[in-house]
Amino acid sequence: MNSPVLSNRALSIKPSPTLAIDAKAKKMQAAGGDIINLGVGEPDFDTPEHIKEAAIKALREGKTKYTPVNGILELRQAIADKFSRENQLTYTPEQVIVSNGAKQSFYNLIQAVINPGDEVIIPCPYWVSYPDIVTLAEGTPVFIETGAKQNFKITPAQLAETITPKTKMLVINSPSNPSGMTYSKEELTALAAVLMEHPQVLIASDDMYEHIMWTHYPFSNIVNACQDLYERTIVINGVSKAYAMTGWRIGYAAGHPEIIAAMNKIQSQSTSNPNSLAQYASVAALNGDQECIHDMVKAFKGRHDVVYHALNSIKDVHCLPSQGTFYSFPDISATLARIDDGLQDDVQLADYLLTKAGVAVVPGTAFGTTGCIRLSYATSMEKLEDALERLTTVLSGR
Ligand code: PLP
Repeated sequence: MNSPVLSNRALSIKPSPTLAIDAKAKKMQAAGGDIINLGVGEPDFDTPEHIKEAAIKALREGKTKYTPVNGILELRQAIADKFSRENQLTYTPEQVIVSNGAKQSFYNLIQAVINPGDEVIIPCPYWVSYPDIVTLAEGTPVFIETGAKQNFKITPAQLAETITPKTKMLVINSPSNPSGMTYSKEELTALAAVLMEHPQVLIASDDMYEHIMWTHYPFSNIVNACQDLYERTIVINGVSKAYAMTGWRIGYAAGHPEIIAAMNKIQSQSTSNPNSLAQYASVAALNGDQECIHDMVKAFKGRHDVVYHALNSIKDVHCLPSQGTFYSFPDISATLARIDDGLQDDVQLADYLLTKAGVAVVPGTAFGTTGCIRLSYATSMEKLEDALERLTTVLSGR
């Protein structure tokens, strides 16, 4: 096609790099390659039985029609109850919107509040979709660099110097994909003190990995740390990671009724309601026995310990212990020149590891932090041990 067909909007963004790596690994697998995929961002466990049963029951009962755009009341009530029970946060069902995954929750939020030129502060390393979703709304992503020395977390001083009159939002994701780091309540209190000086700044609190953490302190978000930020914080969460339900596509957001209503309007003109059966399954997930989460978290922690020790025993690889999620984010920058003179950066290294070791990982550049790679341990211990052996061989290099 010669004529310019694509919109500037479509040209302004890149496809999700994590999905791209996953696709490449799957293609190599399909062609007979012996590939271990540590690039994926989804639990390897099956969705718990009682959740599947709820979907089957809903299907049998003919719950197959359109639902309200923002989700069935039963689910929004279950989400409000969950916020009250687990997070000590009070929301009415009208302050909750259910979407096709937390990705759509974030997308709706940005479309609802960001005007062209508005700045959205995104700490690095970040979940890959934040900057592009902001760019699609013609907002300006503004990054705060962190690094292993500060545990990949922003400081209050950094936040204070990054906020401008154009700042409309700060995104906080804790536990973090990809770093695996979490903010303690004290750290959030210190960030909140800066935010209290700037009443125009909204906060998107992406709590997606809230349950997958093993710190000595309990999970807190910024509203738990500072109740005064309740009005301008939109909490985003979902069932994808905690209940191994990535394919069901159910995420949700809660916050100020005016913002939630605007998100509802946007969703009504794009996808309408999320899948009806998945909504009934999510009611079972949130209201049912939570033991399934503990079993999965225990497995993730066990695998984390193996990955963390194996990585740190490789020469020049430096990895912090993750505090949650199912990712490790080691610094591999010192290995590059030693392994192969041609390797310039983490992107080339990820490709090299796929070709030479048959292990798929995601380069840190995809998350806005060069010199690192992200390994997901949402895969069996057997495969993990095989992958770690292969990585040790290739990364130990010359
Ligand atoms: N937020 C974070 C930090 C994530 O890692 C992900 C998925 O990888 C999402 C949101 C989106 O989740 P969902 O699959 O529910 O759209």
